[in-house]
Amino acid sequence: MAASASGGLEGRVALVTGSTDGIGLAVARSLAAQGSAVMLNGFGEPEAIRALCDELATAHGVEVAHAPADLRREEDAAALVPHVLERFGRLDVVVNNAGTQHKGPVEEHPPQRWREVFALNLDAAFHTIRTALPGMRARGWGRIVNVASVYGLAGGVDRSSYVASKHALVGLTKAVALETASTPITCNAVCPGDVSTRIFYRNAKLLAESEGISRAEAQQRIAATNMPSGRVVAPEHVAALVAFLCSEAAGEIRGAALPVDGAWLAR
Ligand code: NAD
Repeated sequence: MAASASGGLEGRVALVTGSTDGIGLAVARSLAAQGSAVMLNGFGEPEAIRALCDELATAHGVEVAHAPADLRREEDAAALVPHVLERFGRLDVVVNNAGTQHKGPVEEHPPQRWREVFALNLDAAFHTIRTALPGMRARGWGRIVNVASVYGLAGGVDRSSYVASKHALVGLTKAVALETASTPITCNAVCPGDVSTRIFYRNAKLLAESEGISRAEAQQRIAATNMPSGRVVAPEHVAALVAFLCSEAAGEIRGAALPVDGAWLAR
């Protein structure tokens, strides 16, 4: 497979973790639309995942496969990139997107859940990066994008493990960007505000239940509380930024943590 000289991603291979749903799926779609083959990852019904692979492959004329790794498990996380290399023969783009959160005060945070949040939000990215970099260095090109959060750049109440793990992910991004700074490999983070995916709808449901309001009102209230724009961010907005970071034009954006947050962090 020849790599592209056009600035698109034709001939490239991308791994997007947590991409059977939400932001990851939007990212997978946008990278496939740029011509990249894609390894999906994440949970779901086998039939639905097969249909998703077929749909993406047909829509964009690229190869699409799925790796069922549970990235909370160290052995799965460590084996994911070798699996992609075995399937596609190369790996050019890694998007560390799979993530989870636990809501509640720090003194009530179950330690086991703390380890799970860190395993998925931080350790999995460490494993994909450390196993993908040697091949990227050998081929002389690579793009690593870590999906952090506004909570990677600012604090928040009742989400200590999420805030801590996303800050650490931003730190890992900077460290890897420095280690690759003199190469054609870049590493950056994107930091979304409230995005209209499962986590957002779950938070809105919790707010609706605790306040006795409708889910629609809760969604509007969350968006307006956190984001001066008053609107929730679409997964496609995040995906477009990730695709740009994977382009040739973004080759000197290194170690950045870029908000997509309706001006949340501008206050
Ligand atoms: P989502 O819940 O909609 O989708 C998560 C995806 O990850 C799914 O494909 C799921 O199957 C997969 N997944 C879950 N656990 C996994 C595991 N253990 N191993 C492998 N895959 C797993 O999530 P989302 O809302 O799209 O969030 C994606 C990322 O964006 C997360 O890192 C999240 O922290 C971050 N983020 C989300 C929002 C938001 O408002 N939704 C805001 C800021 C940052």
